[in-house]
Amino acid sequence: MPRILLHACCGPCSLMPIVHLREEGWDVTVFFFNPNIHPADEWKKRRDAMLEVSVRLNVPLLEEGAPVNGGVWVRALQGVTREGERCRLCYRPRMERTASLAAELGFDAFTSSLLYSRYQHHETIMSEAERAASLNGAVFLYRDFRPWWWDGIAMSKELGIYRQKWCGCILSMKEALVQQKEAAERKAALKAERAARLAREAEERRLKKEAIAAKKALRERTGKKLPQ
Ligand code: SF4
Repeated sequence: MPRILLHACCGPCSLMPIVHLREEGWDVTVFFFNPNIHPADEWKKRRDAMLEVSVRLNVPLLEEGAPVNGGVWVRALQGVTREGERCRLCYRPRMERTASLAAELGFDAFTSSLLYSRYQHHETIMSEAERAASLNGAVFLYRDFRPWWWDGIAMSKELGIYRQKWCGCILSMKEALVQQKEAAERKAALKAERAARLAREAEERRLKKEAIAAKKALRERTGKKLPQ
């Protein structure tokens, strides 16, 4: 059976790649190497989630890059902070190390769970993986795992695997916090708008009832039928 080294960015994203590569007949080994993840306790949570996946799916797991190796990521970025541009530089050391390890350990090919995520820059990952493959004499297996997006989410929830709230780096964490704050503000504004509309409608109903009651009282006093 051909052997493949699957770079795993996290537990939930690795599920569908493991399942589908196995269905294709690959003997899968997972490699967790993500020095981009910040802070250290988040790295540990994601590594533990990966361990959980490895146990539940009975797949061998290799790992490198404890949080201290965040320096690899900082050096790779060379001060580039714009989303998209920095992501290419963030994929680079991860693809390079996966390719070099695949070559060193004699794997027939390597690929990455990053190709499962709808939020990653798919074409950039492909080009970085191809670059890493040619630099290291390894074979990159391209697969688009995105069609199984919802199946992966369902499976991770079913297995109770930790699901992170930001991509990984400190910049993505800050961006996610801003987005969460904006979403909370939008939600609060919608709630306030709805409460104001309900209060307005209640007041309109009250005034209407008052008008009807006043007309009725006048009719009873005068005995006259009033226009509606
Ligand atoms: S947003 Fe994600 S892919 Fe982009 S630099 Fe940060 S951790 Fe890397």
